Amino acid sequence: MGRYIGPSCRLCRREGQKLFLKGTRCVGEKCAYTRRDYSPGQHGQTRKTKLSNYGLQLREKQKVKRIYGILEKQFRRYFALASKKVGVTGETLLQLLERRLDNTIFRTCFAASRTQARQFVRHGIIFVDNRRVTIPSFLVNVNSKITLKPTTKLLKLIKDNLEVSKERSVSQWLKVDSENLKADVLSLPQRSDVQFPISEQLIVELYSK
Ligand code: SF4
Repeated sequence: MGRYIGPSCRLCRREGQKLFLKGTRCVGEKCAYTRRDYSPGQHGQTRKTKLSNYGLQLREKQKVKRIYGILEKQFRRYFALASKKVGVTGETLLQLLERRLDNTIFRTCFAASRTQARQFVRHGIIFVDNRRVTIPSFLVNVNSKITLKPTTKLLKLIKDNLEVSKERSVSQWLKVDSENLKADVLSLPQRSDVQFPISEQLIVELYSK
């Protein structure tokens, strides 16, 4: 499945808020959004239009896609899946996105960002229930056990990530053993586990037209 490979900071500036796409580099003065909090491009500083209802819905959808690093086709597929399930579609959509393996690795704090988590998965160092999984969109389940390849050269980086992320609390739906570098999925993620401000209802309205 494809992924966006352009400049990440441009996405934050386009959405008008920090999306924290680069992990630790997002904290501090070097953040591009902190330095230039206007849209990218030639007219970014001058063009300020009031968004229509549709515009608001579109921006919310783009924001969520960018946070989770997903392109349109796959995002639509998640929406279709969420709308078929029992429950509130917007919340189910977020739950599906949270359950992605790359996001789960990010939530355990083994990786500093979802992009890095995705790399870990692609490099084949992530095991779920003792089986190597190299698909970032793999959905974890309740009782899934996540372990790391013990001989990976990335162990030092992962330990550093855990050290740096001490203040970033691990999600309630996960139990992380930072000594032995493993994690258990205790329950499915709930809406309250997604702390970032997202109005999922706008996305539902957009796709329901
Ligand atoms: Fe966004 Fe700032 Fe991180 Fe760049 S450094 S990805 S602008 S939060």
